[in-house]
Amino acid sequence: MPEFVDRVLKCVDCGAEFVFTAGEQQFYHDKNFRNEPKRCKACKTARGHGRGGQAGGHKVETLATCSQCGKQTTVPFKPTQGRPVYCRECFLQRRSAAAGGSSAASPE
Ligand SMILES: [Zn+2]
Ligand SMILES: [Zn+2]
Repeated sequence: MPEFVDRVLKCVDCGAEFVFTAGEQQFYHDKNFRNEPKRCKACKTARGHGRGGQAGGHKVETLATCSQCGKQTTVPFKPTQGRPVYCRECFLQRRSAAAGGSSAASPE
């Protein structure tokens, strides 16, 4: 059974030194991972959360002001001139209102 000792590695992203602990090495050994970790925890976390978001950069987010509550929001499309833009809350609110309120007279 191999003995593992903490090792200091350098993050390829930010250049910070981080500890590849004995426990982690044991884990890597158990899982048969050949590659050592290349990134510090912060960069790993950042990459994990940013997956598909900032990494790709394909998603268009346009800053807009909600026509209903005036809150600043981002929309995944380019707002058309003259058309109202709603933040997420107002959008959902309006949609549920439209769904339930269309037959305003009586449900039966
Ligand atoms: Zn880093
Ligand atoms: Zn709003």
